Amino acid sequence: STALAVEQLCKVYGSGLEALKGISLDVMPGDFFAILGPNGAGKSTLIGIISSLVRKTSGRVRIFDTDIDDNFSRAKQLLGVVPQEFNFSVFEKVEDIVLQQAGYYGLPRAQAQERTRLLLQQLSLWDKRDTPARMLSGGMKRRLMIARALVHNPQLLILDEPTAGVDIELRRSMWDFLREINQQGTTIILTTHYLEEAESLCRNVAIIDHGTIVQNTSVKSLLQQL
Ligand code: ADP
Ligand code: ADP
Repeated sequence: STALAVEQLCKVYGSGLEALKGISLDVMPGDFFAILGPNGAGKSTLIGIISSLVRKTSGRVRIFDTDIDDNFSRAKQLLGVVPQEFNFSVFEKVEDIVLQQAGYYGLPRAQAQERTRLLLQQLSLWDKRDTPARMLSGGMKRRLMIARALVHNPQLLILDEPTAGVDIELRRSMWDFLREINQQGTTIILTTHYLEEAESLCRNVAIIDHGTIVQNTSVKSLLQQL
């Protein structure tokens, strides 16, 4: 069984650009996995397809053995995604944004409230619960995105460049939080263009470049090659 199985995935955009050229990738349950690659490599496209936000040209994606085409609603429950862009309404209040997401996943009200409070506390956002999201700093907005992605307790969490542009102190505290989530059993995949981030957090890594996986190995053996 795998947490994520990607088979021969291709994406050709309307412009004719081949963003993914037949990528195959397995991530095991419990892993902390990095997708490393330069800007334009195809990382966001890959995450977009896994989260059913980008249409694939061909290939197959399974999340804990559920094919995203066969059973979208089950795949949705298994997966939490933290995109690069903030895609919540900046006019809404912090707590409401997380509660609304819980509603989207069908959590009962009491459970949604409990889960929201716990996550906002863990991410040091509980004091800001009544603040409109537009008033938050960039780092707080990112943490809000993480809380929102975790509210339905997904088994697989995918983060697209979670610490891009985040200062070193906040980056460390986000790393600590993600390590803890992983230790509690959530499989985590993140994209990054910082080798340091993969080194600090991840066990295994795929390096992607121009829509192709050029390496798929343990972080340890990658570092030994350098
Ligand atoms: P699809 O083939 O998946 O429908 P399209 O090629 O039609 O995707 O593009 C989707 C949207 O992304 C369009 O609105 C397009 O303008 C925009 N877009 C085009 N090129 C880029 C790019 N390099 N990076 C990000 N967005 C782009
Ligand atoms: P990364 O996340 O690794 O920076 P992306 O997946 O965003 O890479 O982009 C991969 C390639 O696809 C790039 O050449 C990018 O310009 C192109 N691209 C991304 N989105 C679109 C789109 N919507 N339409 C056309 N081209 C796109």
